[in-house]
Amino acid sequence: MKVNLMHGAGGEVMGELLAVLTRFEHRNAGGIGLEALDDGAVIPVRGTNIVFTTDSHVVRPVFFPGGDIGRISVCGTVNDLAMMGGRPIALSCGMIIEEGFLVEDLERIVRSMDHALGECGASMVTGDTKVLERGALDGIVINTAGIGIADTVVRDSGLQEGDLILVNGTLGDHGIAIMAERAGLKFGEQIRSDVAPLWNLVEGALAAGTIHAMKDPTRGGFASAINEMARKSGVSIRITEESVPVRKSVRSAASMLGIDPLQVANEGKVIMGVPGDAAEDILAAIRTHPYGRDAAIIGRVEPGAHVIMETAIGGERFIEPPVGDPVPRVC
Ligand code: MG
Repeated sequence: MKVNLMHGAGGEVMGELLAVLTRFEHRNAGGIGLEALDDGAVIPVRGTNIVFTTDSHVVRPVFFPGGDIGRISVCGTVNDLAMMGGRPIALSCGMIIEEGFLVEDLERIVRSMDHALGECGASMVTGDTKVLERGALDGIVINTAGIGIADTVVRDSGLQEGDLILVNGTLGDHGIAIMAERAGLKFGEQIRSDVAPLWNLVEGALAAGTIHAMKDPTRGGFASAINEMARKSGVSIRITEESVPVRKSVRSAASMLGIDPLQVANEGKVIMGVPGDAAEDILAAIRTHPYGRDAAIIGRVEPGAHVIMETAIGGERFIEPPVGDPVPRVC
Protein backbone atom coordinates (compact mmCIF):
# COMPACT_ATOMS: atom_id res chain seq x y z
CA MET A 1 0.00 0.00 0.00
CA LYS A 2 1.18 3.51 -0.77
CA VAL A 3 0.29 6.65 1.15
CA ASN A 4 -2.35 8.76 -0.57
CA LEU A 5 -3.87 12.19 0.15
CA MET A 6 -6.83 10.74 2.05
CA HIS A 7 -4.34 9.30 4.56
CA GLY A 8 -3.77 12.90 5.72
CA ALA A 9 -7.39 14.07 5.59
CA GLY A 10 -8.42 13.57 9.20
CA GLY A 11 -11.21 11.05 8.57
CA GLU A 12 -11.75 7.31 8.66
CA VAL A 13 -9.07 6.60 6.03
CA MET A 14 -6.47 8.47 8.07
CA GLY A 15 -7.23 6.06 10.91
CA GLU A 16 -5.69 3.25 8.84
CA LEU A 17 -2.40 5.13 8.60
CA LEU A 18 -2.46 6.12 12.27
CA ALA A 19 -2.76 2.43 13.14
CA VAL A 20 0.72 2.06 11.60
CA LEU A 21 2.20 5.33 12.87
CA THR A 22 1.20 4.82 16.49
CA ARG A 23 2.59 1.29 16.75
CA PHE A 24 5.16 2.25 19.37
CA GLU A 25 5.79 0.10 22.41
CA HIS A 26 6.95 3.19 24.29
CA ARG A 27 4.15 5.66 23.78
CA ASN A 28 3.00 6.75 27.21
CA ALA A 29 4.96 8.66 29.85
CA GLY A 30 2.65 7.68 32.68
CA GLY A 31 -0.34 9.85 31.79
CA ILE A 32 -2.20 10.15 28.49
CA GLY A 33 -0.10 9.09 25.51
CA LEU A 34 -0.21 8.26 21.84
CA GLU A 35 -2.61 5.35 22.43
CA ALA A 36 -5.41 7.78 23.34
CA LEU A 37 -5.24 9.65 19.99
CA ASP A 38 -6.44 12.69 21.91
CA ASP A 39 -5.60 16.31 21.06
CA GLY A 40 -2.42 16.14 23.12
CA ALA A 41 -0.49 14.07 25.64
CA VAL A 42 -0.52 14.56 29.39
CA ILE A 43 2.67 13.91 31.35
CA PRO A 44 2.31 14.02 35.14
CA VAL A 45 5.47 15.42 36.74
CA ARG A 46 5.57 15.90 40.53
CA GLY A 47 1.86 16.60 40.79
CA THR A 48 1.73 18.89 37.73
CA ASN A 49 -0.02 17.89 34.50
CA ILE A 50 2.21 18.90 31.63
CA VAL A 51 0.32 18.87 28.32
CA PHE A 52 2.35 18.34 25.16
CA THR A 53 1.32 18.40 21.51
CA THR A 54 2.69 18.94 18.00
CA ASP A 55 1.27 19.81 14.57
CA SER A 56 2.67 20.37 11.09
CA HIS A 57 1.09 23.01 8.90
CA VAL A 58 0.96 22.85 5.11
CA VAL A 59 -2.01 25.09 4.30
CA ARG A 60 -2.36 26.35 0.71
CA PRO A 61 -2.56 29.26 -0.01
CA VAL A 62 -0.15 30.52 2.66
CA PHE A 63 -2.24 33.72 3.06
CA PHE A 64 -6.02 33.26 2.99
CA PRO A 65 -9.13 35.25 4.01
CA GLY A 66 -9.03 35.60 7.79
CA GLY A 67 -5.55 34.25 8.42
CA ASP A 68 -2.29 32.74 7.23
CA ILE A 69 -0.02 29.76 7.85
CA GLY A 70 1.62 31.57 10.80
CA ARG A 71 -1.61 32.17 12.70
CA ILE A 72 -2.76 28.63 12.02
CA SER A 73 0.58 27.21 13.22
CA VAL A 74 0.22 28.88 16.60
CA CYS A 75 -3.54 28.36 16.95
CA GLY A 76 -3.45 24.68 15.95
CA THR A 77 -1.03 23.89 18.76
CA VAL A 78 -2.50 26.27 21.34
CA ASN A 79 -5.97 24.84 20.72
CA ASP A 80 -4.84 21.23 21.06
CA LEU A 81 -3.30 22.16 24.43
CA ALA A 82 -6.49 23.98 25.42
CA MET A 83 -8.66 20.97 24.48
CA MET A 84 -6.81 18.97 27.15
CA GLY A 85 -7.41 21.75 29.68
CA GLY A 86 -3.87 23.05 29.24
CA ARG A 87 -2.86 26.69 29.59
CA PRO A 88 -0.37 27.24 26.74
CA ILE A 89 3.06 28.17 28.08
CA ALA A 90 5.72 27.71 25.42
CA LEU A 91 5.91 26.68 21.77
CA SER A 92 8.62 25.57 19.37
CA CYS A 93 8.66 26.30 15.67
CA GLY A 94 10.38 24.28 12.94
CA MET A 95 10.26 25.94 9.53
CA ILE A 96 11.11 24.17 6.29
CA ILE A 97 11.31 26.75 3.52
CA GLU A 98 11.62 26.39 -0.25
CA GLU A 99 14.43 28.28 -1.97
CA GLY A 100 12.93 31.45 -3.48
CA PHE A 101 10.33 32.08 -0.76
CA LEU A 102 10.03 35.83 -0.09
CA VAL A 103 11.64 37.07 3.13
CA GLU A 104 8.89 39.73 3.34
CA ASP A 105 6.35 36.92 3.46
CA LEU A 106 8.34 35.25 6.26
CA GLU A 107 8.29 38.53 8.19
CA ARG A 108 4.52 38.73 7.75
CA ILE A 109 4.12 35.12 8.93
CA VAL A 110 6.25 35.71 12.04
CA ARG A 111 4.30 38.88 12.93
CA SER A 112 1.09 36.92 12.61
CA MET A 113 2.42 34.13 14.85
CA ASP A 114 3.51 36.68 17.43
CA HIS A 115 0.08 38.29 17.45
CA ALA A 116 -1.65 34.94 18.07
CA LEU A 117 0.84 34.14 20.87
CA GLY A 118 0.08 37.50 22.48
CA GLU A 119 -3.65 36.76 22.43
CA CYS A 120 -3.23 33.71 24.64
CA GLY A 121 -0.15 34.58 26.69
CA ALA A 122 2.16 31.92 25.26
CA SER A 123 5.74 32.37 24.00
CA MET A 124 7.78 30.97 21.12
CA VAL A 125 10.88 29.80 22.92
CA THR A 126 12.83 27.64 20.48
CA GLY A 127 12.99 26.87 16.80
CA ASP A 128 14.77 25.38 13.81
CA THR A 129 15.00 26.41 10.16
CA LYS A 130 15.83 24.38 7.05
CA VAL A 131 15.86 25.55 3.43
CA LEU A 132 15.27 23.03 0.64
CA GLU A 133 16.11 23.46 -3.04
CA ARG A 134 13.44 24.84 -5.35
CA GLY A 135 10.79 22.23 -6.14
CA ALA A 136 11.57 20.04 -3.10
CA LEU A 137 8.46 21.38 -1.35
CA ASP A 138 5.71 23.87 -2.08
CA GLY A 139 6.68 27.13 -0.37
CA ILE A 140 6.81 26.52 3.35
CA VAL A 141 5.97 23.91 5.98
CA ILE A 142 5.78 24.93 9.64
CA ASN A 143 5.82 22.49 12.55
CA THR A 144 4.93 23.74 15.98
CA ALA A 145 4.98 21.89 19.29
CA GLY A 146 3.72 23.26 22.54
CA ILE A 147 3.68 22.61 26.25
CA GLY A 148 0.98 23.68 28.63
CA ILE A 149 -0.08 23.14 32.23
CA ALA A 150 -3.49 21.68 33.08
CA ASP A 151 -5.10 22.15 36.49
CA THR A 152 -8.01 20.04 35.24
CA VAL A 153 -7.32 17.55 32.47
CA VAL A 154 -10.19 17.24 29.98
CA ARG A 155 -10.32 14.42 27.45
CA ASP A 156 -12.31 13.89 24.25
CA SER A 157 -13.70 10.63 25.66
CA GLY A 158 -15.42 11.87 28.81
CA LEU A 159 -19.01 12.37 27.60
CA GLN A 160 -21.70 11.12 29.97
CA GLU A 161 -25.38 10.40 29.44
CA GLY A 162 -27.38 13.56 30.04
CA ASP A 163 -24.58 15.91 28.96
CA LEU A 164 -25.39 18.74 26.62
CA ILE A 165 -23.23 19.46 23.57
CA LEU A 166 -22.02 23.03 23.00
CA VAL A 167 -20.11 24.69 20.19
CA ASN A 168 -18.60 28.18 20.46
CA GLY A 169 -19.76 29.41 17.06
CA THR A 170 -20.40 28.88 13.35
CA LEU A 171 -19.12 25.68 11.75
CA GLY A 172 -17.32 25.22 8.43
CA ASP A 173 -15.88 28.74 8.09
CA HIS A 174 -12.22 27.76 7.68
CA GLY A 175 -12.58 24.89 5.22
CA ILE A 176 -15.06 26.75 3.05
CA ALA A 177 -12.92 29.93 3.10
CA ILE A 178 -9.91 27.93 1.84
CA MET A 179 -11.95 26.04 -0.75
CA ALA A 180 -13.74 29.17 -2.03
CA GLU A 181 -10.40 30.98 -2.32
CA ARG A 182 -8.90 28.11 -4.33
CA ALA A 183 -11.95 27.84 -6.55
CA GLY A 184 -11.73 31.58 -7.25
CA LEU A 185 -15.17 32.22 -5.76
CA LYS A 186 -15.29 35.77 -4.48
CA PHE A 187 -17.36 36.30 -1.36
CA GLY A 188 -15.47 39.42 -0.29
CA GLU A 189 -15.28 39.59 3.49
CA GLN A 190 -18.30 37.33 3.96
CA ILE A 191 -16.39 34.06 4.22
CA ARG A 192 -13.31 34.16 6.40
CA SER A 193 -11.38 31.52 8.26
CA ASP A 194 -12.25 31.31 11.96
CA VAL A 195 -8.61 30.60 12.89
CA ALA A 196 -8.18 31.77 16.50
CA PRO A 197 -6.45 30.76 19.74
CA LEU A 198 -9.10 29.44 22.14
CA TRP A 199 -7.32 29.22 25.49
CA ASN A 200 -8.88 32.34 27.05
CA LEU A 201 -12.36 31.18 26.03
CA VAL A 202 -11.72 27.67 27.36
CA GLU A 203 -10.29 29.07 30.59
CA GLY A 204 -13.50 31.07 31.11
CA ALA A 205 -15.63 28.02 30.41
CA LEU A 206 -13.63 25.86 32.85
CA ALA A 207 -14.13 28.51 35.54
CA ALA A 208 -17.89 28.58 34.88
CA GLY A 209 -18.57 24.87 35.36
CA THR A 210 -17.51 21.26 34.85
CA ILE A 211 -16.56 20.21 31.33
CA HIS A 212 -16.69 16.45 30.72
CA ALA A 213 -15.19 16.40 27.22
CA MET A 214 -13.64 18.75 24.65
CA LYS A 215 -12.36 18.44 21.11
CA ASP A 216 -11.56 20.89 18.32
CA PRO A 217 -13.30 19.99 15.04
CA THR A 218 -10.33 20.46 12.70
CA ARG A 219 -9.73 18.16 9.68
CA GLY A 220 -12.85 16.14 8.93
CA GLY A 221 -14.84 18.90 10.60
CA PHE A 222 -17.64 18.62 13.12
CA ALA A 223 -18.83 15.31 11.65
CA SER A 224 -15.50 13.61 12.30
CA ALA A 225 -14.92 15.11 15.77
CA ILE A 226 -18.41 14.44 17.14
CA ASN A 227 -18.29 10.81 15.98
CA GLU A 228 -14.87 10.36 17.57
CA MET A 229 -16.14 11.80 20.86
CA ALA A 230 -19.22 9.53 20.81
CA ARG A 231 -17.23 6.41 19.92
CA LYS A 232 -14.51 6.98 22.52
CA SER A 233 -17.09 7.82 25.21
CA GLY A 234 -19.37 4.86 24.35
CA VAL A 235 -22.48 7.01 23.93
CA SER A 236 -24.97 8.30 21.35
CA ILE A 237 -25.36 11.98 20.55
CA ARG A 238 -28.50 13.62 19.17
CA ILE A 239 -27.91 16.92 17.37
CA THR A 240 -30.73 19.33 16.55
CA GLU A 241 -30.08 20.64 13.03
CA GLU A 242 -31.81 23.98 13.58
CA SER A 243 -29.54 24.79 16.52
CA VAL A 244 -26.26 24.17 14.65
CA PRO A 245 -24.74 27.57 13.76
CA VAL A 246 -23.64 27.79 10.11
CA ARG A 247 -23.27 31.13 8.32
CA LYS A 248 -25.63 31.70 5.39
CA SER A 249 -22.70 32.61 3.14
CA VAL A 250 -20.87 29.42 4.15
CA ARG A 251 -23.98 27.36 3.54
CA SER A 252 -24.44 28.75 0.03
CA ALA A 253 -20.74 28.48 -0.90
CA ALA A 254 -20.72 24.91 0.43
CA SER A 255 -23.68 23.95 -1.73
CA MET A 256 -22.02 25.55 -4.79
CA LEU A 257 -18.90 23.50 -4.07
CA GLY A 258 -20.85 20.34 -3.30
CA ILE A 259 -19.33 20.10 0.19
CA ASP A 260 -20.97 19.49 3.56
CA PRO A 261 -19.89 22.37 5.85
CA LEU A 262 -19.97 19.93 8.79
CA GLN A 263 -17.21 17.85 7.15
CA VAL A 264 -14.64 20.62 6.67
CA ALA A 265 -12.05 21.98 9.05
CA ASN A 266 -12.56 24.65 11.68
CA GLU A 267 -9.54 26.31 13.34
CA GLY A 268 -11.21 28.37 16.05
CA LYS A 269 -13.94 26.07 17.29
CA VAL A 270 -14.44 23.76 20.24
CA ILE A 271 -17.06 21.09 20.89
CA MET A 272 -17.81 20.64 24.60
CA GLY A 273 -19.84 18.07 26.47
CA VAL A 274 -21.06 19.50 29.79
CA PRO A 275 -23.50 18.36 32.52
CA GLY A 276 -27.03 19.62 31.85
CA ASP A 277 -27.12 21.76 34.99
CA ALA A 278 -23.86 23.52 34.10
CA ALA A 279 -24.65 24.20 30.44
CA GLU A 280 -26.30 27.61 30.74
CA ASP A 281 -23.52 29.03 32.95
CA ILE A 282 -20.83 27.72 30.62
CA LEU A 283 -22.69 28.99 27.55
CA ALA A 284 -23.00 32.44 29.13
CA ALA A 285 -19.26 32.49 29.95
CA ILE A 286 -18.34 31.48 26.39
CA ARG A 287 -20.62 34.13 24.88
CA THR A 288 -18.80 36.91 26.72
CA HIS A 289 -15.70 36.07 24.69
CA PRO A 290 -15.22 37.50 21.16
CA TYR A 291 -14.65 33.96 19.79
CA GLY A 292 -17.83 32.69 21.44
CA ARG A 293 -20.50 35.20 20.47
CA ASP A 294 -22.40 32.66 18.33
CA ALA A 295 -22.06 29.82 20.85
CA ALA A 296 -25.00 27.43 21.06
CA ILE A 297 -26.22 24.28 22.74
CA ILE A 298 -26.74 21.93 19.80
CA GLY A 299 -27.41 18.48 21.18
CA ARG A 300 -27.50 15.99 24.01
CA VAL A 301 -25.85 12.73 25.01
CA GLU A 302 -27.84 9.51 25.29
CA PRO A 303 -27.15 5.80 25.65
CA GLY A 304 -26.24 4.12 22.35
CA ALA A 305 -23.54 4.25 19.71
CA HIS A 306 -24.49 6.75 17.00
CA VAL A 307 -24.55 10.41 16.15
CA ILE A 308 -28.03 11.34 15.00
CA MET A 309 -29.20 14.57 13.39
CA GLU A 310 -32.80 15.60 14.04
CA THR A 311 -33.60 17.59 10.93
CA ALA A 312 -35.58 20.79 10.73
CA ILE A 313 -38.50 19.02 9.04
CA GLY A 314 -38.81 16.44 11.81
CA GLY A 315 -36.75 13.63 10.26
CA GLU A 316 -33.66 11.84 11.54
CA ARG A 317 -30.43 10.80 9.90
CA PHE A 318 -27.02 9.62 11.03
CA ILE A 319 -24.11 12.03 10.97
CA GLU A 320 -21.52 9.64 9.56
CA PRO A 321 -17.80 10.10 10.17
CA PRO A 322 -16.44 11.33 6.81
CA VAL A 323 -13.85 9.17 5.02
CA GLY A 324 -11.73 12.32 5.04
CA ASP A 325 -11.86 16.08 4.81
CA PRO A 326 -12.79 16.89 1.20
CA VAL A 327 -10.24 19.72 1.19
CA PRO A 328 -6.52 18.75 1.11
CA ARG A 329 -3.87 20.99 2.72
CA VAL A 330 -6.44 22.87 4.73
CA CYS A 331 -4.22 23.43 7.78
MG1 MG B 1 -7.28 18.57 17.92
